[in-house]
Amino acid sequence: MGPYRAELLNKELQVFTFNDLLNLFPYRHVDRTRINLIRDITSDTEFIQVAGRIVSVGVMGDKRSRRLVAEIRDASGTLELVWFQGINGLQKLVQVGSEFLVYGRVSFYQGAPQITHPEMETLVKEAGGQATLEPVYNTTEKLKAKGLGGRQLGKFTQTLLGMLKEKDMPENLPDLVRGEYLSRWEAYKQIHFPASPELYQRALVRLKFEEFFIAQVRLGMIKSKRHRYSRGVVFEQVGAIFNKFYSEYLPFELTGAQKRVLKEIRRDTGSGRQMNRLLQGDVGSGKTMVALLAMLLAIDNGFQATLLAPTEILARQHYEGITALLKDMPVEVRLLTGSSKSRVRKEALGMAREGKLHILIGTHAILEESVQFGNLGLAIVDEQHRFGVEQRARLWKKAVVPPHVLVMTATPIPRTLAMTAYGDLDYSVMDELPPGRQPIATVHRLDDKRSQVMDFIRHEIDKGRQAYIIFPLIEESEKVDYENLERGYENIKAWFPEPRYWISRVDGRQKQEIRETNMQRFLTNDTQIMVATTVIEVGVNVPNATVMVIESAEKFGLSQLHQLRGRVGRGKEKSFCILLTSPRLNKEARERLNTLCATNNGFKIAEKDLEIRGPGDISGTRQSGMLNFKIANIVQDRELLELAREMAERILERDPDLEATENAGLKHFLQAQHGKTQWSKIS
Ligand code: ADP
Ligand code: MG
Repeated sequence: MGPYRAELLNKELQVFTFNDLLNLFPYRHVDRTRINLIRDITSDTEFIQVAGRIVSVGVMGDKRSRRLVAEIRDASGTLELVWFQGINGLQKLVQVGSEFLVYGRVSFYQGAPQITHPEMETLVKEAGGQATLEPVYNTTEKLKAKGLGGRQLGKFTQTLLGMLKEKDMPENLPDLVRGEYLSRWEAYKQIHFPASPELYQRALVRLKFEEFFIAQVRLGMIKSKRHRYSRGVVFEQVGAIFNKFYSEYLPFELTGAQKRVLKEIRRDTGSGRQMNRLLQGDVGSGKTMVALLAMLLAIDNGFQATLLAPTEILARQHYEGITALLKDMPVEVRLLTGSSKSRVRKEALGMAREGKLHILIGTHAILEESVQFGNLGLAIVDEQHRFGVEQRARLWKKAVVPPHVLVMTATPIPRTLAMTAYGDLDYSVMDELPPGRQPIATVHRLDDKRSQVMDFIRHEIDKGRQAYIIFPLIEESEKVDYENLERGYENIKAWFPEPRYWISRVDGRQKQEIRETNMQRFLTNDTQIMVATTVIEVGVNVPNATVMVIESAEKFGLSQLHQLRGRVGRGKEKSFCILLTSPRLNKEARERLNTLCATNNGFKIAEKDLEIRGPGDISGTRQSGMLNFKIANIVQDRELLELAREMAERILERDPDLEATENAGLKHFLQAQHGKTQWSKIS
């Protein structure tokens, strides 16, 4: 290849080694026998391959519109070819009279078909016309200009494959797992130079599976190491406190999902190893009760428990709810937040240290050094996405043996994503809402229907209910967003004049105290309307609120909309969510709004979100880099991922350290790859 082109390959495609080159997979193959006629191009044609002779060529336009335009003619017609870059080099190549095989995406310019930046190959009349599938690789304009186009790269790959033997690409899947899949060596050969389309498909499946499987084995090993080597306090029994509460004070029957998760927690905390569990529950699925029961379990075994919430208002809400439920039980509960009075604070800290306090509920304030527990056995973190990993780690240090940790989040993520993003954690799902909830009716309305929407809100308020009206606040457009909020607020005040109606306004620019007071007034039904930016996204529980209006709904992401909507529908009354937008919407926004109107299920919404946006952007995932597979795709290849997961579990169950001879190939492969990804950091 020579040093010059080698350097270009390094720079342009990050190809440094033979291995890199082999792992540069073609994005398509050209079937030399399938050549289209120019006449057959229709408005539906996407890609086309034609063979013909150049009949005209010339440079047109100047400056930014400077382009090389050529016409190619076959037996049926002519087609325009256009280039905007690399014109000088191309002029030498593209000359009247020369024959080419041309491939590219068809577009129409003033009604006539053309291809912009087509792939070009000199047409060589081949004797015999053997049906071979020739690989085409993604490349760059710079590489193309130096003769390393999408098809030329294949020549190097071909040479390389000719130099290798099967032993150079040893199998890394254990026999049990490999089953019917192509061998690794065969798969590499077939993915570049398939003998048939069927073999190409088989190679693709094999390599996608391998990618998932290797990732799952890695995550599985991290998890299994933690299971085997971490030490945790043991909650041996379900005792008097839990049982008394359960039989006398539990205000409702638990849902099946709540029971299941409690069982999982009970199993973990009884095992002698430290629990590190993520609980995903859709909004309103009743995570708080699960948290409370788990804390009672800790108390029954002589341990203390703590519950952390991301905001003061949420912490107070948990505190009030839980003390009310426990008012006739011998359980000491205290609240600790940044604004706790020093007397209260002192008392709580003393009790925590001496082990007299059973449950401490609070905000970040709990993480401070000064907060020490005599005997902390369980820490629960609510609404995890506002808590960083570091903060969680601080919890571990609050006891000699790290306490069990339960992280609860209301941002559902699809199963496949969870498998890859949280594959090393234990995780539980609550995908069931308490019975008797009426689904929230969600509708999309255009801005010009605002007066009807306001009438509707008034109607609900007159029935004694409350309403949220949410405005977007995005960093990039903060200034305009605040202006809109301001205008919107004034507008709403005009619709709902004092003293008949009262409004709480809550936004990020307010002082914390003012914000908290305004929220508190809404919680206690002193105000009937809350006008807010997304600061209320997390957690607040006002069962009396039945209307959620979201202004400029097209600016929100799907899961954010779902979270916001989850603020209503928490009581017995029928609730409504109204998505207001302007009439101009792009396709994606329309799809988001339709999805939201169609379903209330957070997991379904998360699946759709993944489909629309791809895995890279999904919020709540820890390290999106982990989700970027080379050829596999967690949305399209979901079944393969499930299979890979199952296989990885099966292998690790029998042989957690991969010591068995049948797993030697796999182990060797993993070791050779070590350092590529910083797997040690994942957990
Ligand atoms: P989230 O999972 O969003 O934190 P919460 O714990 O705030 O949900 O619960 C939402 C509402 O559902 C609360 O008012 C709670 O009392 C109620 N709830 C929880 N579990 C049940 C149940 N099993 N049956 C009936 N209502 C329940
Ligand atoms: Mg909650």
